[in-house]
Amino acid sequence: MVDNKSIHAIVFTDLDGTLLDDRYDLAGAAYMCNELYARGVLTIPASSKTKAELSELKALFSYDAPLISENGAGIVWPENLQSALLELGETSDPDTTITPPMSYEQICEVLETIKHGQKFEFSGFSELSVEEVAAATGLDIHGAALAKQRLASEPIIWSDESVRLADFKAQLQAKGLHLVSGGRFHHVMHPTDKGVAARRLMQVIAATWGTKLTVLACGDSPNDKPMLEAAQACALFPQRDGSYIPCTHPFSIKAKSAGALPWLEAVNELLSKVLKPPRQADFPASHP
Ligand SMILES: [Mg+2]
Repeated sequence: MVDNKSIHAIVFTDLDGTLLDDRYDLAGAAYMCNELYARGVLTIPASSKTKAELSELKALFSYDAPLISENGAGIVWPENLQSALLELGETSDPDTTITPPMSYEQICEVLETIKHGQKFEFSGFSELSVEEVAAATGLDIHGAALAKQRLASEPIIWSDESVRLADFKAQLQAKGLHLVSGGRFHHVMHPTDKGVAARRLMQVIAATWGTKLTVLACGDSPNDKPMLEAAQACALFPQRDGSYIPCTHPFSIKAKSAGALPWLEAVNELLSKVLKPPRQADFPASHP
């Protein structure tokens, strides 16, 4: 159970390429989050991963963490916020509180129609076997099976010419869907994002706990940008090619690399900048 009385800050964080590096050390990541929680900082994972995948990390937490899954299409609420949701008159499924206008199956049907109609070349996770998802992601068979348990978004592997992506996006838009680019895959989903989900969580947390909280965010990819912009301060992590996504946030820092330890160092730096008496000139804005 999250103890609201002791929490003074919240960190929304991406996982792959941010809290997790290629070693995929879930135990190390959970250890850092638990350390922060003991200091009154609540870490909320926000990922393109499924609820089933995130639940493996959540199981290692010392607290009942809220989760943002599938790029913001799903929110998993902790027990004490679920009752708050009922009090606020929320009636939708607590796992996908931002209720998708289209189910996962419907999204896959739309994709199939567009693919065959326009002869686009791509593969969605629904078309791939567990073994093929494992090969594409680098996950083991167990992890790939969890990655296929989707509620509201479809990752695709684009094998067509990159110039055709704009046409594909337009076709999706006409069907009420949009395309977000993650670190490895494109994700087809209804128009929401990690920023919308983070704001929704903060709205409910603020209404429930009534406390003033510092809100931070960490991420590396374009799909993290709305979440980074929704926070008071953010840490940018390098993408696979070493570059950082463009960010105009006035309170941003650049982390050295992905992984639990550099992540903790970045969060500590953000906390020290934000929690000390505000002198904007002191803050090393690092946007290009
Ligand atoms: Mg990432």
